[in-house]
Amino acid sequence: MPRPRKNRWVNWEPGASYFKPQGIPLRDLGEINLTVDELEAVRLAHLEGLYQEQAAQQMNISRQTFGRILESAHRKIAQALVNGDALRIEGGSYALPEAIFYCRECDYNWEVSPGFPRPPDCPQCGSGYVNSMLDRCGGRGRRRRGRRGHRGWGGPPR
Ligand SMILES: [Zn+2]
Repeated sequence: MPRPRKNRWVNWEPGASYFKPQGIPLRDLGEINLTVDELEAVRLAHLEGLYQEQAAQQMNISRQTFGRILESAHRKIAQALVNGDALRIEGGSYALPEAIFYCRECDYNWEVSPGFPRPPDCPQCGSGYVNSMLDRCGGRGRRRRGRRGHRGWGGPPR
């Protein structure tokens, strides 16, 4: 069962997606695009305080890849702050918890495309005990946003 695309798993969506220096018209500014997965790396490393190993696990990527994403994010943030560029948070290869499913029987986990119906059973063992990562986080309504108190989902099951 090959994974169609290697998305970075993101357990958070930006509250604000555009930052600009005060008092300068937008047309006079450069713009930096920080992707959602890059910001997730920053969030996990610096707000959650996770080690790169744990953070990589949460995003379902290797530690090396995580390091690269974090490095790229730091460079972009530094560039925006130092040069006074606007910062747009948008895009990237990422999947949100509602698109990620796991099997409670065999612990297999996989993604579906956005808008795809909930899979009835596990592609690996055929069990019907399938949950989305969103269920694991306690549902979108109860998910707390923002800087404090976000516990994350604890990573994909192993
Ligand atoms: Zn299974």
